[in-house]
Amino acid sequence: MKKIIIGNWKMNPENLILARKIFSEIKKLSKKFPKIDIVVCPPFVYLSDLKNKIDKVSSLKLGAQDVFWDNPETGSRPFTGEISASMLRDAGVKYVILGHSERRSMGETNEEVNKKIKIALGAGLTPIICIGEKEHDIDGKFFETLKIQIKDTLNKIKKSDLQKIIIAYEPIWAIGKNESESMKGEDLYQMAIFIRKILSEMFGQVEAFKTPIVYGGSVSPFNVKDIISEGHVSGILAGRSSLESQKIAEILDILSII
Ligand code: PEP
Repeated sequence: MKKIIIGNWKMNPENLILARKIFSEIKKLSKKFPKIDIVVCPPFVYLSDLKNKIDKVSSLKLGAQDVFWDNPETGSRPFTGEISASMLRDAGVKYVILGHSERRSMGETNEEVNKKIKIALGAGLTPIICIGEKEHDIDGKFFETLKIQIKDTLNKIKKSDLQKIIIAYEPIWAIGKNESESMKGEDLYQMAIFIRKILSEMFGQVEAFKTPIVYGGSVSPFNVKDIISEGHVSGILAGRSSLESQKIAEILDILSII
């Protein structure tokens, strides 16, 4: 499976000039590492501008950090402040992060994420579905949390659509921490097996093994080798590191040789 690095810029950087600068630096790196997919997910307001910097055949793609679950094309109700999937597509977006823990903490439910997945797939966008437990408790209750998240968010998703989806396993306790507090590769491997088991039960083994799983939670050049080689995942979702092109360069260097 092709390796992938997804950068979640969250509510950064502060202005368009800075966004253009970081994006141009990442674009240069994408030319040096064409075999690794790079997805940059900036705030909505920068998307249309950054779209102009992307070549059609590049391994660098744009992603959004959310989408609304309804579409004006279906002629439904008005929704002040929301952004539709077709608007994102028009802004050059190919991927969309859904169900990030920071959105879930503001009240987003599995059912809403499920509706967003359907609307994104309908618009030809690749959903990056975030799942993850708040606590990695000793009794293993987190397995049940993950199982419910996977089953509910992927409820009634067509088997043929599973290949168009990326699962981002992001344990909440590991996000925004020091890299030494991130999940260790061997523990991640257990989680990746568990996620594939649930996907197999829902969609069959063949489809489950074709679905990329990426890890997110304090990834940096310091821990990325362990995460990929011991965790056996297809790539990473990085928050803070994705705003520093030097760190991305180091991560790409490591990914290219493992
Ligand atoms: C994230 O926000 O999804 C994330 C993984 O952030 P960080 O890499 O900064 O922990």
